[in-house]
Amino acid sequence: MTLLRSGSATDTGLVRSVNQDLAIETGTLFAVADGMGGHAGGEVAARLAVDTLTIAFGAKPTGTGLCEAVSEANTVVYEHSIDNADLRGMGTTMTAAALVQESGRDVIALVNVGDSRSYRYHEGELTQITVDHSLAEEMARSGEITESEAAVHPHRHILTRALGVADEVNVDLWKIQPTRGDRFLLCSDGLTNELADTQIAEVLATVPDPQVAADLLVRAARTHGGSDNITVVVIDVVLGEDDEEDVPAVAAVAADFHSAATMPPGTSRSDLDESVEVLAGPEPLKPKWRDRYRARRKARRAARGRRLITVRTLLFLAILGAIAFGAFYAVRWYDTNAYYVQAANNELIIYHGRVGGGVLYKPIEVQRTGITTADVPSYTRPQLVAGVQEDSLKAAQTYVYGLVAAQHQSACVQTPGAVGCPSTTTTLPGSVAVTTTTKVG
Ligand code: MG
Repeated sequence: MTLLRSGSATDTGLVRSVNQDLAIETGTLFAVADGMGGHAGGEVAARLAVDTLTIAFGAKPTGTGLCEAVSEANTVVYEHSIDNADLRGMGTTMTAAALVQESGRDVIALVNVGDSRSYRYHEGELTQITVDHSLAEEMARSGEITESEAAVHPHRHILTRALGVADEVNVDLWKIQPTRGDRFLLCSDGLTNELADTQIAEVLATVPDPQVAADLLVRAARTHGGSDNITVVVIDVVLGEDDEEDVPAVAAVAADFHSAATMPPGTSRSDLDESVEVLAGPEPLKPKWRDRYRARRKARRAARGRRLITVRTLLFLAILGAIAFGAFYAVRWYDTNAYYVQAANNELIIYHGRVGGGVLYKPIEVQRTGITTADVPSYTRPQLVAGVQEDSLKAAQTYVYGLVAAQHQSACVQTPGAVGCPSTTTTLPGSVAVTTTTKVG
């Protein structure tokens, strides 16, 4: 039975205007995330990562589950970054510790991505467990520079791994046997940039309460410059696996405090007296996990793709729009490219449009001729009442004047020599008619 007690503190520092760090303590799960990117991106990334971690680890509270939870947090932050232009490029570090069971015994699982750190304070000695994923640290590991040069190197803040910047991430995992008196420290680089390991160790060695220790560490980092957000979680192992004699006294409290750490049936405490400092070093995320997340991500994208308008749909809509546009203008052109003559209140009027009205254009009156139905041949009157279609205004006018001329000619036939009519008509064989007209006045 392992019992943990923790405290945490965070501070914006003296230079930054917002705090993009985030810490959580849930009794069995502890984490620090240091967000980065854009005005709000860092805060969003840290919040998304921590919330996803908490939910995913709750569903599978094991060392493997913790690793998978970090990978899922990466997916969630990355997809939010892709989907939101304002959040593009955001990311976060993540270091987390969880009390889990491995082969029937309690283990502290530690995971890390980025340059936030996890330390273990054990028997008066502070040891950094996690490895920074920074350019300077990689240069130190490859022997290009020394560890002390890496600590002040200008590239020490350039991360080689973070959550949310790519669709996949490798997660380092350690499994540590907890023993009573151990203290674990999770912190953002705002602490380690300002305080040396010896200064941190001094606080952990002298301040027994984890909350007070966390507060003091943050205050010390502020005093030493506070150039970044500072976040600290201190976790104390108040009862370890090898504290058999203490179990009856605290068992009830422990079960309530972190139910995930209960012993499996059939496990005797005598099996667990072997204390192993570090059960495992960093384990990269296994391929099968990647496959599972890749499949899940693919399914999510496919679902999203079904909801979105595709290029093909856009093309189809554009063609449909062009056809509708063309049809509209064709019909309107047909409606407006015509005139007609119609008798209204016995007067012949010329209209622009189609007799009876078009589909998209209502005819309008363009000329009152002043000519009445009495001025035109009677046989044309029914047509004029219905309306006579012409191709142009000129054609409509010509039609009207033609009717007037026809009526006049008809009158002359009936009354030769009348005013305006020819007096005689002479037709010579093989020639056109020659007429003379009686002048008026
Ligand atoms: Mg930071």
